[in-house]
Amino acid sequence: MAELVFFSGTMDCGKSTLALQMDHNHRARGRGGLIFTRLDRAGEAVLSSRLGLATGAIEVTDAMDLWDVVVAHRTGGHRVDYVICDEAQFYTPTQVEQLARLVDDMEVDVFAFGITADFRPQLFPGSRRLIELADRVQVPQVEALCWCGRRATHNARIVDGVMVVEGEQVVVGDTSGTAAGEVEYEVLCRRHFMRRMNSRAARAAALSADVLPLELAACALPAPGDDPHGG
Ligand SMILES: [Zn+2]
Repeated sequence: MAELVFFSGTMDCGKSTLALQMDHNHRARGRGGLIFTRLDRAGEAVLSSRLGLATGAIEVTDAMDLWDVVVAHRTGGHRVDYVICDEAQFYTPTQVEQLARLVDDMEVDVFAFGITADFRPQLFPGSRRLIELADRVQVPQVEALCWCGRRATHNARIVDGVMVVEGEQVVVGDTSGTAAGEVEYEVLCRRHFMRRMNSRAARAAALSADVLPLELAACALPAPGDDPHGG
């Protein structure tokens, strides 16, 4: 029985690495598959992992019909037993419905990988539809960690070093030089997400005894030798 599986998590928890491994495992068993991605950090039509692995992929656009793409490949004589969908949070809800149809009507396994919520934090429309339709939602076993060492559950957007909670839903990182400033992302635990305490803010606060927040005294700071009760 084919399945629609959604592997969801924060950034930095190894989703793309898992996607590449999944493709390798199925290919090694003689199955044929397609790899989709959208707005990968390495550029168009590439699925890349932070560990340095990469492979070619089909770049998804808003107008693309994923059902049609699979049908075209099969019509062309290629096997499509499964599809890997990386960065699935950026797919449209309609495309997620097309993926579900591939599972139900064509017996194609769909393995989707994506971030659940954006930096505000609100569910991405694609991720919401995946949670609604998936046979299974799985959380990767590798946990991303906040600077404090707790499990990171939230993706924070950092603009010019400062955490923001308003703005466009999709701004891919490393866009330095734009009017909006340098955009980066950092994973945080909920406690530090709610307090807008990214690693840089925490370091700055730790250096200034006057504004040392109470919660920082309760959890370890990354810099060794710091005495939270000093000063
Ligand atoms: Zn934390």
